[in-house]
Amino acid sequence: MPRNYILQSATDVFGKSVDVVIEDGAIVEKPALGVEHEKIDCSGLTVLPGFVDLHTHLREPGFEQSETVASGSRAAAAGGFTAIHAMANTFPVADTAGVVEQVARLGEDAGLVHVQPIGAVTVGLKGEQLAELGAMAQSKARVRIFSDDGNCVHDPALMRRALEYVKAFDGVVAQHAQEPRLTVNAQMNEGALSAKLGLAGWPGVAEEAIIARDLMLTELTSSRLHVCHVSTAGSVELIRQAKLRGIRVSAEVTPHHLLLTEDLASGYDPIYKVNPPLRKQSDVDALRAGLVDGTIDVIATDHAPHPKESKDTDWASAAFGMVGLESAYSIAQQVLIDSGESSFERLAEVLSTNASAISGLTDQGTYLSVGKVANLTLVDPEFKTQVESKTQSMSENNPYVGRSFTGGVVHTIYDGQFSYRNRQIVERSAL
Ligand SMILES: [Zn+2]
Repeated sequence: MPRNYILQSATDVFGKSVDVVIEDGAIVEKPALGVEHEKIDCSGLTVLPGFVDLHTHLREPGFEQSETVASGSRAAAAGGFTAIHAMANTFPVADTAGVVEQVARLGEDAGLVHVQPIGAVTVGLKGEQLAELGAMAQSKARVRIFSDDGNCVHDPALMRRALEYVKAFDGVVAQHAQEPRLTVNAQMNEGALSAKLGLAGWPGVAEEAIIARDLMLTELTSSRLHVCHVSTAGSVELIRQAKLRGIRVSAEVTPHHLLLTEDLASGYDPIYKVNPPLRKQSDVDALRAGLVDGTIDVIATDHAPHPKESKDTDWASAAFGMVGLESAYSIAQQVLIDSGESSFERLAEVLSTNASAISGLTDQGTYLSVGKVANLTLVDPEFKTQVESKTQSMSENNPYVGRSFTGGVVHTIYDGQFSYRNRQIVERSAL
């Protein structure tokens, strides 16, 4: 089926009205003579590069009661994503070429978004022995990002070796910065509130100490570090200083750390239990400032689906994590655009272009480049929505249920065809 479209009268990131012409899935300058195009009225919609998430937990293989590659792909398409990075903490762990190729293949079968596997740094995420990084890099899954996310690579000698190893293929180590000895049984941000609630505290320094160490190791090895889900003002400052020194570090912040604070723990509702924990308003302010000034490179969802029984329990027994793919855009718009702090240009960088560059994806984050395959997201900045518990994700551990957001995704175009159209998933089989 031909994939020829004209997206008429969309607004680009610079505020200009554009007609985007797509022929056989690729962006072209103007419609070719004799070619039939489907014309789609996009007035009132802003066209953005398809979003790229660096941090998604798809749970397959092993935990398919929470999410599968197919259901996570639907959530991603509905959230405006054209590429997502599947974290390695599955069962079996994605620590071999075989598992990362399996995840990539499941992504291709679903066909709604590019599923880019992340490889584990250590065998079984155990932090003892390096995984087969080279074999994963050379596999069909072409892994460039390695992470033990969920666990911290806390052994400094192992972290140093991983940083040295990934240089051979311009890879990057994505660290879940959590000093384990400082977070034994930790439940929420450490401070007056954790003391009052009687929940074990999780100090900001547990994150900052690892980031400081890893920045030094990255400088020593002239390698590349990515810091997952930065959550404190202190971490932002460490990364800011490192960038000034020329250290090759990139960093992500989650939508929930940009919006929510530790105060939500007061009701002991585990829907707000997350790793790293929600922090204080002063941390939220510093994260937002870091996102605006370029210290933080990307918004990454840390979409972490869990079945009901893992969350319908007391705080201490509940699992860490919340879903995030389908609300990321609305939160990004609120933080960057509606606040008056930044622009759609910056929003496109932090939701797409920068993540694509970190991962070395050549067909993503390219925006309206003539000749490139169309990976685009069209949003309605005025659209008002109230979050419901049932979404495309299989899991409902969603902290935003009942909240109202302004701004939402209307269409997602992945690999030259609609994966989400007029707020409906377009299954590949329907094409
Ligand atoms: Zn993590």
